[in-house]
Amino acid sequence: MAGLVSPKHGIPVRVGTLPPLTKEQLIQKLISEKTLVTPQIIKAFKNIDRKDFVLTQDKNRAYEDRPLSIGYGATISQPTTVAIMLEKLQPQSGEKILEIGTGSGYMTALLAEIAGKEGKVFSIEYVSELKGLAEFNLRKYNLGSIALFTGDGKVGLKNYSSFDRIISSASGREMPRSWKNQLTVGGRIVAPLGDELVVLDKVSKRRFKEKRYEGFIFVPLQ
Ligand code: SAH
Repeated sequence: MAGLVSPKHGIPVRVGTLPPLTKEQLIQKLISEKTLVTPQIIKAFKNIDRKDFVLTQDKNRAYEDRPLSIGYGATISQPTTVAIMLEKLQPQSGEKILEIGTGSGYMTALLAEIAGKEGKVFSIEYVSELKGLAEFNLRKYNLGSIALFTGDGKVGLKNYSSFDRIISSASGREMPRSWKNQLTVGGRIVAPLGDELVVLDKVSKRRFKEKRYEGFIFVPLQ
């Protein structure tokens, strides 16, 4: 056990001795902090196990509220961030959803669980090895319709548009025009720009309403 001395009192401080959180404890923490609110999103957190999406060496850290590396410079996002993004996105059953930055496939699975059998989730990943990892992880579940693509998510998926919701896990400098064009009127984009999280509602063919939230760190959009 690592030993540290409290700088203030000179008393030895024990670190690393707390037992890891269970899945239920992590979800309860997110609920009590009011990060998770919507019943459908809470249900998805219960049904989709983060442990199935982290690397083998991190299985015992699966329910820590922090991002974990999945290789290739990518991370599976922090559970709090995933919850905040889903609560802002408010995906609904039956919707057509575009995701950019598949990574481990964890967010993809949550989206597919919420969209249900009538919905459809399209996800684009830049790194083909990560698309392979997501495919492997998602095979553990019998979710509704999911289509994974390798490529640059900035261009979206014109052939499959329009989308009711668009969500990106990677942060760019500006909102790609293609995402705005490929969004259904009445639909919503949740995407990080720099260290801000942007929520964009398409109110009419050319009019958008934007809100910004500060204080996030995301993997950069390539
Ligand atoms: N949602 C993922 C988070 C992965 S991190 C999860 O739950 O695991 C962000 C991902 O975006 C990385 O996998 C990165 O490779 C990918 N990415 C970065 N730029 C991209 C781009 N232009 N198009 C598609 N994916 C991109």
